[in-house]
Amino acid sequence: MAGEMLEMTREKAKALRAAYNQAVRSGVEAFEFDGHELLTDVVDATILGTLDECPRRGSMKKRLIEVVDATILGTLDECPRKGQYAFAYGARTRGEHRALDFGKAYHEGVGVWYKSGKSLPAALEAFNAAYASYVDEGDGGEDEDESREVRTYAKGHELLTARARLFQNEDWDWLGGEQQFVLDIPGCPYRYAGFIDGFGREKGGAQQYVIDEEKTSTSPWLFVANPNAQVTGYVYAARSLFHQDIRRGLLTMAGIYKSSVDGQVKGKRRKKGDPEPVPREVVNRETIDLNPWDLEEWEREVRGKVLNLVSFQGGWDWWPKRTRSCSNYGGCPYRPICQAPPGLREEFLESNFEQSFWSPLDERR
Ligand code: SF4
Repeated sequence: MAGEMLEMTREKAKALRAAYNQAVRSGVEAFEFDGHELLTDVVDATILGTLDECPRRGSMKKRLIEVVDATILGTLDECPRKGQYAFAYGARTRGEHRALDFGKAYHEGVGVWYKSGKSLPAALEAFNAAYASYVDEGDGGEDEDESREVRTYAKGHELLTARARLFQNEDWDWLGGEQQFVLDIPGCPYRYAGFIDGFGREKGGAQQYVIDEEKTSTSPWLFVANPNAQVTGYVYAARSLFHQDIRRGLLTMAGIYKSSVDGQVKGKRRKKGDPEPVPREVVNRETIDLNPWDLEEWEREVRGKVLNLVSFQGGWDWWPKRTRSCSNYGGCPYRPICQAPPGLREEFLESNFEQSFWSPLDERR
């Protein structure tokens, strides 16, 4: 019966609850229901409650993705099904909200740091004001609690302070920032959008740079900065917006570590016999110099991915799973959905996530 739809009716919802209760009483991890094997830790109390309330509730709205950006195309690359849940169903965890709010407040702090002539107090104040305006202190469940524990005001201050210490003297001048763009790419049925953090120009020279600021929950030192689809896309967009020969991107990554102190984490011993591990900064910057063919390849790739997306969206039910992505970054939040029988997935999504559609035209991520 694998893959067959589990059609839910009120009677079936009752029978499912009874089968689940029996399985829990017997202490088994899985039980048979209507020809499907269900795991007891996937069919939890919230889902059963939802089914009791209204067994046909699982009819989440889906939205056609019509404007793409680096995040949407990157997620679809990682796992098309993950992209479908995140952007077509808009299924978000509470923890993700917090991560996005923290990121936006951090960007606000960095922007004000440059605009104020590199004043750290001004940057910290801007971060505080922005984070306070986004964040609510409600109980969003376990994943939100975990995210809140790391993404504190103190952590934001630590990252901005470390960034200010490392980049007080730079060999380029800030020209301005926060430029949203929407591009028509030749041969692409959907538009490509994004948000460039800033622009710079080398001191005493003419070369212009695109500035990109990223947060990461993995090491900013292990991050592969080149090739980088996002920065290449920003350089492509900047060239087309300003008709300038821009070829360089400066990518600054801030690692969000629970254990970091004063902007540093414990490093590794370089070689055996070294007395102490060398501490590592949590902020790392990479310079990305692009050739004309990098930009041509980027354009071709985006076109190919968008055409794929058009064909995916023509048949919602066949989006493939890419299971090598399931454990990335601490585990994909949609694993319980992918483990569930196809006919229960929408109910599971509705019970465990909040629906919040997002488009690159609405706000930055
Ligand atoms: S659990 Fe795995 S297969 Fe399912 S959406 Fe996430 S990454 Fe894709």
